Amino acid sequence: MSTKHVYFFGGGTADGDGKMKELLGGKGANLAEMSKIGIPVPPGFTITTEVCAAYYEQGKKIPEAAIPQIDECLKKVEATFGKKFGDTSDPLLVSVRSGAALSMPGMMNTILNLGLNDASVEGLAKKTGNPRFAYDSYRRLIDMFGSTAMGCEHEAFEHEIHTLKHEKKVQLDTDLSADDLKELVKRYKAVYKKHVKDDFPQDPKKQLMLAINAVFNSWNGKKAIEYRRIERITGLKGTAVNVQAMVFGNMGNSSGTGVAFTRDPNTGENVFYGDYLINAQGEDVVAGIRTPEPIAKLESEMPKVYKQLMDIREKLERHYKEMQDIEFTVQDGTLYMLQTRSGKRTGTAAVRIAVEMVKEKLIDETTAVKRVAPDSLNHLLLPQLDPKAKVKPVAQGIAASPGAASGMIVLSAEAAVEHVAKHPNDPIMLVRKETSPEDVAGMHLAKGILTSTGGKASHAAVVARGWGKPCVVGCEAMKIDEAKGTITIAGIAAKAGDFLTINGTTGDVMIGKVPTVAPTMTGDFATLMTWADKSRKLKIRTNADTPADAAKAREFGAEGIGLCRTEHMFFGEDRITAMREMILAESVEARAKALAKLLPFQKADFVGIFEAMDGFPVTIRLLDPPLHEFLPHDGKGQEEVAASLGLSVAKVKERVEELHEFNPMMGFRGCRLPVVFPEIGDMQVQAIIEAAIEVKKKGKSVLPEIMIPLVGMIEELTLLKKRAITVARDCMKKAGVEVEYQIGTMIELPRAALTADQIAEEAEFFSFGTNDLTQMTFGFSRDDIKGFMPTYLKEKILPVDPFQSIDVNGVGQLIDIGIQKGRASRKAKHNQHLKVGICGEHGGDPDSVVFCHKVGMDYVSCSPFRVPIARLAAAQAALGETKRDK
Ligand code: ADP
Ligand code: MG
Ligand code: MG
Repeated sequence: MSTKHVYFFGGGTADGDGKMKELLGGKGANLAEMSKIGIPVPPGFTITTEVCAAYYEQGKKIPEAAIPQIDECLKKVEATFGKKFGDTSDPLLVSVRSGAALSMPGMMNTILNLGLNDASVEGLAKKTGNPRFAYDSYRRLIDMFGSTAMGCEHEAFEHEIHTLKHEKKVQLDTDLSADDLKELVKRYKAVYKKHVKDDFPQDPKKQLMLAINAVFNSWNGKKAIEYRRIERITGLKGTAVNVQAMVFGNMGNSSGTGVAFTRDPNTGENVFYGDYLINAQGEDVVAGIRTPEPIAKLESEMPKVYKQLMDIREKLERHYKEMQDIEFTVQDGTLYMLQTRSGKRTGTAAVRIAVEMVKEKLIDETTAVKRVAPDSLNHLLLPQLDPKAKVKPVAQGIAASPGAASGMIVLSAEAAVEHVAKHPNDPIMLVRKETSPEDVAGMHLAKGILTSTGGKASHAAVVARGWGKPCVVGCEAMKIDEAKGTITIAGIAAKAGDFLTINGTTGDVMIGKVPTVAPTMTGDFATLMTWADKSRKLKIRTNADTPADAAKAREFGAEGIGLCRTEHMFFGEDRITAMREMILAESVEARAKALAKLLPFQKADFVGIFEAMDGFPVTIRLLDPPLHEFLPHDGKGQEEVAASLGLSVAKVKERVEELHEFNPMMGFRGCRLPVVFPEIGDMQVQAIIEAAIEVKKKGKSVLPEIMIPLVGMIEELTLLKKRAITVARDCMKKAGVEVEYQIGTMIELPRAALTADQIAEEAEFFSFGTNDLTQMTFGFSRDDIKGFMPTYLKEKILPVDPFQSIDVNGVGQLIDIGIQKGRASRKAKHNQHLKVGICGEHGGDPDSVVFCHKVGMDYVSCSPFRVPIARLAAAQAALGETKRDK
């Protein structure tokens, strides 16, 4: 049997189906599926991705075997649609559309109206009684075919229509008469000939084959290759080509075209959501040429079509059990579906849709958990406008992507890039008429995006939603003068650099800065989290140094603190002086005296944190950074310190110089501090145990875990543990109260991982400090990677920044070895399970969470706002399926 290269669809049947995305591309597979389940789809056929691969193997030639199959399918389309390709009185026209297994920007744009020529355009004019429509279609074909298939410049065609409008003294394209358009066709053909050095092909079959070639060529176009590289898409065979009978939304007022989502992609609400335009074709709705109407209006304008569309909406959701993004066209009152795919949505919408679909019995709980990309939860954790703030909107646009943002106005993407390069901490608000793919770098840097034109499907809206970035579009009350660097909104003037606030949830636009507040976890979000918790094996803790952070993390479901850093506790106004006194002390006694001043502060901090954590374990890391971080390095600061401590400036200066290090990352820090200055460790242990006693006395349970950082040798731990136990015992004896506590260590040096068996003889728990472990394993200083990391990523020397996602290959091995050796030794020596977790920033990265699950950690710890993300990622890891946002 010969291979099938071409798959027919239409008329209620199809050769392929929705599962064949690899072979038919996403668009082709879904057109087949829709046709199969009885949804009206104009007939057509899909040339497979394998043909694309063969095209390249044969030196850019369509394989012989495919040609008769194309002819055969074209005949079937003619029979189904009742028109003939190339007919001069009532021609079948087709669209030629690219489509790979994954949606891929940079591939060829669709060519519409293919098959028209000088003879059939007359036929079409007569048949429809609408010569204007016929010639408009023809001139569009020459433009689209010329620019997308033959490399002409679209601008050259644009120039012609512009000139003609000028000559005819009209404003809009639609003001041009049939005769004008006839003239335009002539001029377009001249442009075509000038560029291609050949006449516009009159043979429809030749047009078709050239267009198919062009789609295949676009697979290896610069932009498509670049996109696949950035998104690390490999293993695809190529693009499919869809050839489909044309239907016309531009045949008058009983025709139209639209795009819609089966649910609101912003909020997830179960309402039909989209835009349409009467008397328009193809991309007109998204191109922003005319402002489209909301889909709800179609109900009164075309009640029958609307009803049919609502039925299809329901049928598609029932069938796919997923929210769909659809394209449709109405030709003279008849509805046709042109595309369906699962719809992109915000994190908020993803959660609501997943939870509601469970309630609607479309999917089960585990499917819901698997469907939401953990990182997309960021969207629900976006700041909102402070409800207590006085908010005075000056205008309202279309709410395109939720969340609130305040930022300084920049009027171009380039300006945003320049501004952030100079002032990396400034919040930026990108303000534009509209955005285009060239703007994405600047858009990415902006806190929010505001445009004066465009609808919910505009470029700005779609891109912002994808990133979970607040966005308001179509703010028509805004006028921008980019040259002058000024804007006016409803008559109020502002300029570049001024603050502007948008609320992407409501569409409100405010001049000036409005405070924002952190979100909370309730409703569908909370529900999804409880479902996730049923599946996950990992516990989720948080990194928190203050009672407020600890409380926030508990709200988000943290089951303890995996890392409480103590150094921040020394920076407060009231403490830093005592800390400096301690560092500048010349004797053990003087040091102890200064430390005694710090003790009550530390103790009070720990009491607050233990209470907020309410019985959950709290891992407290003893002082980690080098001491010079607490001293000022500038002359003025040093004078102030000298004055406040009654020392000479020279003395302070001398100590600063003494403490200077060439490589602080590998310097006098971590456990090396209490090894040399045991009083420092003693004070911290005393504060921890006394705080635990105090909280226990209040009738609450506490579980402190004392964590000793940067251990590389068992001898360090043995020494410090012994000392800590003595201090703890003294405290308990004095108070007459016993508290439970553990002593463990961070594994953040390769040597610690390699000698984990020895270290586990003393340590009751391990916490992998993967920030330092990554630095030490690669020999990269995290603060100094700017110069080479971008190139390393570009050249694929590294697949991802190892500080963002664990380097499974290298650092991962050390972690694995550490866990294996540590657990085995703890079991053998003490018959105990060694508790293992991670406290680097990786603990909140979904891919790293999957790794932690696989190597059998007990918990991950991450910042409070990433706790829900880690909970979901841990559940997906346990379910063996991780959803990524693309
Ligand atoms: P994209 O992948 O960029 O969405 P499409 O192939 O979906 O490109 O097509 C671009 C536009 O042309 C869409 O609005 C689509 O609905 C319209 N279109 C494509 N094929 C046809 C057709 N056979 N009849 C009418 N409109 C079509
Ligand atoms: Mg499309
Ligand atoms: Mg560290």
